[in-house]
Amino acid sequence: MSKNVYSWGHERRFNAYSNYFKKEFGERIQKVSIDAGFTCPNRDGTLGWGGCTFCINEAFSPSYCTADKPVSQQIMEGIDFHRKRYRRAHKFLAYFQAYSNTYAPVDRLKALYEEALTTPGIVGLVIGTRPDCIDLEKLNYISELSKEAYVIIEYGIESCYNHTLEKINRKHTYEQSVKAINETAKRGIRVGAHLIFGLPGETREQMLDEAAIISKLPLNNVKFHQLQIIKGTAMEKQYLENSGDFQLFTWDEYLDFSIRFIERLNPEFVIERFTGEAHPDMIAGPRWFMKRTDQILLLFEKRLDELNSWQGKNYNPTA
Ligand code: SF4
Repeated sequence: MSKNVYSWGHERRFNAYSNYFKKEFGERIQKVSIDAGFTCPNRDGTLGWGGCTFCINEAFSPSYCTADKPVSQQIMEGIDFHRKRYRRAHKFLAYFQAYSNTYAPVDRLKALYEEALTTPGIVGLVIGTRPDCIDLEKLNYISELSKEAYVIIEYGIESCYNHTLEKINRKHTYEQSVKAINETAKRGIRVGAHLIFGLPGETREQMLDEAAIISKLPLNNVKFHQLQIIKGTAMEKQYLENSGDFQLFTWDEYLDFSIRFIERLNPEFVIERFTGEAHPDMIAGPRWFMKRTDQILLLFEKRLDELNSWQGKNYNPTA
């Protein structure tokens, strides 16, 4: 089956993000991260002060984006950074990444998103947020915007299980994620979702079952990553007190797990990533001695070949 073109229109064994963009834009697209100075209701006292137990946003933000610089300046510095690394990158998406990027009145969102879209080189927006930080007014505005440019809203679902969401102090439910995703898709806006594997209290079978659960949602893109315990988080403390509650993955275990997961996943979903990486100095565990994303991808595709497996192989649309 290795030379087949799969239902997503290319030879790779999963519906890869890079191929999707080549199809959509005719060339490689790079994302430029932005910290637009948002916070989130789980940190500003609206729902709580402490945030999700795993959260330390600096672990995932590149150095060029800090909230004290205007959005357009962050974008220009980000483009410069990427052009040095990837000479073939000409088009960019502005990635509103830090904290909850719809957590402000619609006028402020308009100013920030439109500043990004009018910066040279930018062809669209990626807006990361919580499912409880969206409402119909914001969605109607973003729906209009998405008629002019590529726009995707990425929701942090993190888990499909409310008992887990409670344990990680997420302060929203899975039902809220479903509602936000449905309302977004209904308005013709692209929707992405993010999940973490290895959260406390979840078995591997429960994590695998999430493939079937999210496959029913009207998603365009999905992103996964293995849980890493970040130094200084509430989760590090919980881990040190009760490591038995965590099912952290070794690299080999995660490789097999992610293949079993994507076998059950809706083949229409574009997979943007299936691992995440914090800076090695920030990780309390587990460390994979750190494989680069491109190495991880090669190992993943090699394993899919060996197993003659592919995304959606065991997907059951009627389940
Ligand atoms: S992970 Fe997101 S929602 Fe949770 S505390 Fe951090 S910024 Fe807020």
